[in-house]
Amino acid sequence: MGKVAKQKRELLEVTTTCVNCEGHLELNQRFCPNCGGKRMYNRLTWRNLFEDFVDRFLNIENAFLKTFIALFKYPEDVIEGYMRGMRKKYLPAFSYFAIAITVAGFASFVIKNWFMEDMIAAQTAIYANDDPVAEIQKSFTTNFLSWMMDYQSVVYFSFIPFIAIISRLVFWNYKRFNMVEHFVIYLYAYSHIAMIFTLLGLMVIWYQPIYQVFSFMGLPITIIYIAYVLKRLFRLDTGALVLKSALFGLVLFVLFILIGVVTFIAGVFLYKSGALEGSEFIEAIEKQQAAKRAMQEAATTIKDTIPLDSLSNFLFVFRF
Ligand SMILES: [Zn+2]
Repeated sequence: MGKVAKQKRELLEVTTTCVNCEGHLELNQRFCPNCGGKRMYNRLTWRNLFEDFVDRFLNIENAFLKTFIALFKYPEDVIEGYMRGMRKKYLPAFSYFAIAITVAGFASFVIKNWFMEDMIAAQTAIYANDDPVAEIQKSFTTNFLSWMMDYQSVVYFSFIPFIAIISRLVFWNYKRFNMVEHFVIYLYAYSHIAMIFTLLGLMVIWYQPIYQVFSFMGLPITIIYIAYVLKRLFRLDTGALVLKSALFGLVLFVLFILIGVVTFIAGVFLYKSGALEGSEFIEAIEKQQAAKRAMQEAATTIKDTIPLDSLSNFLFVFRF
């Protein structure tokens, strides 16, 4: 094959239509005047595909790394920058969020495929091997964990608007940011801290005792980081920071109690009405209760682990 023919095959056709927005583009224009899209001259090769990958994910000059570092050093620059229309210097809020979701999805995949057994073993380690409750607790934990792995991103996404509303309430006397802007704050801040925590978690997951302790640090570390971001965004002094944090905690606490009560009442109502009959969850609980009753009737002394189980299952939701 001739050299010219080969070269031609490796070039893309130069047209007057933008591939991004289909707007008009002069033959000599490298960038579309309408959407700013860059014209590509070469057909994809492994080399330029790899370059694109490096460009988007790994490059030191790259917006991701810049955003990642700035969210530690001066998060207000990223967040307020985005609010002012800055889109090139740092990654836009939803791009950052999308990366965090991807990392969370990857972590779920790794855990589900390689570390599930270890996690279940660590979670149910308090039971003796011959304890009939152990088997049921194990199946409950298995169901719960795999549910968590499947829906983590959904749980995670729904948390952001929820926390933004609370934040707007807590800062009701500060006119600095409106509701949408509060949403953006958490899109960045929550994505950032959750992503770091997920990555660190993957590093220690091979050793369950550390991982179990580590995963319970998620909530306090998230709170500390978000407090730091808010302090810088609102230029809070220590007094105001303590006050706002306490208020935030109080509102969250009251809401969790309310949600807990509502869920409990709804649960009891559904259970009594028979709507949950035959569901795996109810069957697991009933089996667990039956096993406990059988043991108590056999006059074996057994520590009542039900409140403890419920508490640890409840707390599990707040871990990453
Ligand atoms: Zn265009």
